[in-house]
Amino acid sequence: MARPRSKIDITCQNHTCKYFLKEDGKDILKRGRNIAGHQQYFCNHCRKWFVETANTPLYWKHLSEKEIINICKHLVEKNGIRSIERITGHHRDTIGRLIEDMAIHAETMNEYLIKNLKLTAIECDELWSFVKKNKRKLSPAALIGMKKVMHGSTQA
Ligand SMILES: [Zn+2]
Repeated sequence: MARPRSKIDITCQNHTCKYFLKEDGKDILKRGRNIAGHQQYFCNHCRKWFVETANTPLYWKHLSEKEIINICKHLVEKNGIRSIERITGHHRDTIGRLIEDMAIHAETMNEYLIKNLKLTAIECDELWSFVKKNKRKLSPAALIGMKKVMHGSTQA
């Protein structure tokens, strides 16, 4: 299936941009490909280029940014996957896959959570500890991603 070409569903990947990972108000242009063949994008807000391989959890197609933020808030409040399923109505597999993606991109996710959800570094740390305890099946990539941001987990 070809993806629709009219709509750009990627968000700005520049951490210092005001529209970093923001869907609302974004101004992204699609502009050719780089030498490696990756689609290039340009953010009109920060005037920076980035490529589509720089995917983040919030570029995740099955849930809107609002829903992802909602799930993150439940995780911060230490609600398990099953209770989040009950509260939000999303299937636990969907939530599980989102958490998996978030863990892989934990570094980017932390910046996002601190910037947009006004979490503190400690709250982020608690979120990952909770994810680690609550979700038994995490891929090696997810564990590596989490290890990068979790303090005190390296001695394990
Ligand atoms: Zn930008």
